[in-house]
Amino acid sequence: MVIDAHAHCGIIDRSWPQSFEDYARQAAAADIGAVALFSPVPEIYDRHDRRFADTPAWRLRRRESNAYLLSLDPAELTVYPYFFIWNDFAVEQLSAAHCGIKWHRHAGEPIYQYDDPRCRSALDKIRLRRLPVVLEEEFDHTLRFIRDLANGITVIIPHLGMLNGGFRSIIAAGLWELENVWADTALASPGEVREYIRRFGHQRLMFGSDFPFGDPYSELQKIRSLKLDPAAEAEVLGGNFIRLQIGVSTDQRGGCGNQQGQSKGPLAGR
Ligand SMILES: [Zn+2]
Repeated sequence: MVIDAHAHCGIIDRSWPQSFEDYARQAAAADIGAVALFSPVPEIYDRHDRRFADTPAWRLRRRESNAYLLSLDPAELTVYPYFFIWNDFAVEQLSAAHCGIKWHRHAGEPIYQYDDPRCRSALDKIRLRRLPVVLEEEFDHTLRFIRDLANGITVIIPHLGMLNGGFRSIIAAGLWELENVWADTALASPGEVREYIRRFGHQRLMFGSDFPFGDPYSELQKIRSLKLDPAAEAEVLGGNFIRLQIGVSTDQRGGCGNQQGQSKGPLAGR
């Protein structure tokens, strides 16, 4: 089964068609059977205001946006909800159903308060639950996060690093070699996917679409058209994701994620 390790869904921000129903239609056409879902950025913070100050209204919006993903209970797809964390480091909202963390900002956007003690305690909780973190950040912050803050935490760099300083900067910094650094293929060029696999292997690489920015069908075709060794292709298209999620600690039988989906999904009966 194909698993999309990177897609955004929400219903508060209406600037794009990005509801779960929008995603599910496209996933069905691409034979995607499971998906890791994150909130859309505009439901989490105001990315256009560098000096953005948090407000109760934004905290509520974040809470509702993250809760929407937990509420999804579709018959046709297994959903792995990831918690989109921001500067209130609201890890008390983490539930057993959460399968990972989304950590996201671009240059020019309000910055994460890495020196806030709440950041450290959030990371401690993330480490304890063994939740993977999808980290999209500027290059310098990516380095600091991986080298100084994320010891013992699996970090997934999306887009093969395109928005974390670039694929080559990550190579030069020696990050792709690290056992706890994974990657997804969303919107990365076929040449970079091929080069990553040649140099670093396929074990820590996962297919992702970055819906609604990427089209699940064509992102999947991009991987299939590489004509990888079939075993390697199967790992990239889902096997690696399952291996990553099996490590996540939860007191819930069947692991994190949508429970109805779980009963039909790849972790069923575990
Ligand atoms: Zn994304």
